[in-house]
Amino acid sequence: MRDPFDNPRIFEIPKYLPVIAMIQSVVFPNISIPILVGRKKSVEAIEYALKKDRIVALITQKGKNKRGVGSSNLYTMGTAAEIRNTQKQLDGNIKCNVDTICRIKVKRFIQEKPFILAEVERIKSSGYDMEDEEIEELKTLITTQVEQIIGLGVPFPSHLIIPGIITPSDLDKLVDMLASYMLPSEKEKQVILETVDLGERMRRLSALLDKEVKRFQVQSKIISKVQKKMGKTQREYFLRQQLNAIKEELGEEDELRAELKELTEKIKKAKMPKDAEKKALKEVKRLKTIPPASPEYSYIRTYLDWMLDVPWSKKTREKLDIPEAKIILDEDHYDLDKVKEHILDYLAVRKLKGKARGTILCFIGPPGVGKTSLGQSIARALNRKFIRMSLGGIRDEAEIRGHRRTYVGAMPGRIVSGMAQVGTINPVFMLDEIDKIGADFRGDPSSALLEVLDPEQNNQFRDHYIEIPYDLSNVMFITTGNILDTIPPALKDRMETLNLPGYSREEKLHIAQKFLVPKQLKEQGIEKYKVKFSDNAIYEIIERYTAEAGVRNLERSIASICRKIAREIVSNGEPPKRVIARNLEKYLGVPKIFPSEIEKKDMVGIATGLAWTSYGGDIILVEATLYPGDGKITLTGKLGDVMQESAKASLSYIRSRAKKLKIESKKFKEYDLHIHIPAGAIPKDGPSAGITIATAMASIFKNRPIKRDVGMTGEITLRGRVLPVGGLKSKILAAQRAGLKKVIIPEKNKKDLKDIPKSVKKALDILFVKNVDEVFDMAIKKEIAVEEKKKEIAERTKYITT
Ligand code: ADP
Repeated sequence: MRDPFDNPRIFEIPKYLPVIAMIQSVVFPNISIPILVGRKKSVEAIEYALKKDRIVALITQKGKNKRGVGSSNLYTMGTAAEIRNTQKQLDGNIKCNVDTICRIKVKRFIQEKPFILAEVERIKSSGYDMEDEEIEELKTLITTQVEQIIGLGVPFPSHLIIPGIITPSDLDKLVDMLASYMLPSEKEKQVILETVDLGERMRRLSALLDKEVKRFQVQSKIISKVQKKMGKTQREYFLRQQLNAIKEELGEEDELRAELKELTEKIKKAKMPKDAEKKALKEVKRLKTIPPASPEYSYIRTYLDWMLDVPWSKKTREKLDIPEAKIILDEDHYDLDKVKEHILDYLAVRKLKGKARGTILCFIGPPGVGKTSLGQSIARALNRKFIRMSLGGIRDEAEIRGHRRTYVGAMPGRIVSGMAQVGTINPVFMLDEIDKIGADFRGDPSSALLEVLDPEQNNQFRDHYIEIPYDLSNVMFITTGNILDTIPPALKDRMETLNLPGYSREEKLHIAQKFLVPKQLKEQGIEKYKVKFSDNAIYEIIERYTAEAGVRNLERSIASICRKIAREIVSNGEPPKRVIARNLEKYLGVPKIFPSEIEKKDMVGIATGLAWTSYGGDIILVEATLYPGDGKITLTGKLGDVMQESAKASLSYIRSRAKKLKIESKKFKEYDLHIHIPAGAIPKDGPSAGITIATAMASIFKNRPIKRDVGMTGEITLRGRVLPVGGLKSKILAAQRAGLKKVIIPEKNKKDLKDIPKSVKKALDILFVKNVDEVFDMAIKKEIAVEEKKKEIAERTKYITT
């Protein structure tokens, strides 16, 4: 048996050895290894050794510092090695094959340069007693640990497995080799190298191996977890296959498959454009891979339902017969000749030009004047379907364009959902309340609307939900609104506006007798009883139960009378022959409207103006009052800037004309003027109240009453000229409704009179003015009111008596 400790060379280890500093490696005795030497000090050390007895000290350097080698950062225990041979490498390094001999301990370092020289002491292994039980136990422990490590899948050279019977010197070598092979770091290896006593060395090795076992155990746990995960998906796949098989067995899979097949067929039949079809089929494909219970499945399903609901090619056969269209429009609507003419012209142009390239019709007027029903008639005349969508209050672009599908509960916008509702690609699509769309941080809906209405680009309308460009070019869009002013200008440009200002009482009577009464009798199921409404009853409803520009409430009132009659018939079996004015309270309750809102008597400082609101024309009262002060003016009643300026201009004019108007000029200095326009909560603006405000002011300064049955409208300039105003028809109709006798209007508005029904012109005295002085002459009484006069006389006599 060979014993390294008997190695004769041990005795040849010199006292002083040149040192080679080893970077990050600890070399144990009794092995042959190549070492690569590059650093100058090490090369010098080798050269020195080669010249002497070829023996060097291999000592590990603490840390990783490659460059600076000094004795201070070397361990003090190392290995003596004999240089077997050397080879100069191409890169200048020297490769040395060495045989390590034994452990050495540095007693002291003798020199640093040109190489480190150390005085060393050979360390003999302590050996061990073959009978030592602890060694035996440690041997078994280490063996088990090594086996454990092998068991965890770490490759291990078989010659390192500790055999059952082993000589002491072999055990010594094996322990060193195990340390060299198994321990992960230079520090741990150095600990083993420095432990001379075999028993202790084995104990330490076993402790370090224990750490290693644990490390490998953790590692393998992680690996197995990862593997398990993979296993799970594989298992799921397997289970799903099984489930599919079960479903197939039960026929459920068939159901699902049949559903998807049906969807595919429907998509193919829908005659979608290529892109849309491709997209829809792709979504069906996705459906196949998703379990039907998942939310994703229902999202896709809903999307596909929308894609199928939206019409892609289905259309009604359009006809464009102008004479027939005229008949239909006349059939459904009384009067409105100008509007009907315009519509017929528009349709004729369409017929000649083919597809709708051009403007969009826009009906402007108060509620109930027949905008919607005109749209319906157009659709009927053209044999198109009709759909109506309100845009009122829309502030979000997504309402027009829809939400992206990533949002929960996403839907297409109003345009595409309207198309789905109507089901054909060529309906008449009415967009109501276009004057009431707003814009804010959520985007500007009007820009999306522009795209909808622009015939140049609406064949590629983009809805965020549908994702595929949708062709709106076959749709005939009609928009409606109450007033023109609030429609965004860009939209206004695209549209051809038609004004429907409202009806006079005679027109309303006609509409009621010819259209609304027959319609409601039919709708309430009492057509066959041929109930008649007297003209007076209708007038009474118009004047005392409804105050409107259109006929919506009138129709509603007629409907409720018809319902009451139906009830009468059911309970008594007998309908009334006629509905007359006297009976109205029975059907409609007490009157809601009291005819004139005008004052009961002529008053100083109260003038009646004619205004124009989104609900048609109306009358407004302008009140002026004076009280002692220093010439200030106060304006109340939520007046807009333009109206306020108009009030100031009026005052300036009156002050400049004080003498002519017979007003004492000191009054302007000694009194404050207050102008108020009631219905104080409703904002008012516009220049057309100019002459009304001026008249109220002139009246209060002159202390002369204004004729209560005179209404007026007109803008005023600083020099007192009267300028024309808009909405004349509505205003004059309102004057008639309110029971005025005379209306004063700007001379320049004379041309608008042709739109006003003859009956109204007959009932009202319409006076034209160029200058506000004429207004004062016509509206302000020359005399102080009788009561005022009495009071004034009483006042004077009071002065005289006291
Ligand atoms: P809008 O859309 O302007 O608010 P609608 O079209 O809904 O008004 O009209 C309200 C009702 O009045 C409808 O039943 C309509 O048929 C009827 N109507 C309005 N104007 C006329 C008219 N000139 N001739 C016949 N019926 C009319």
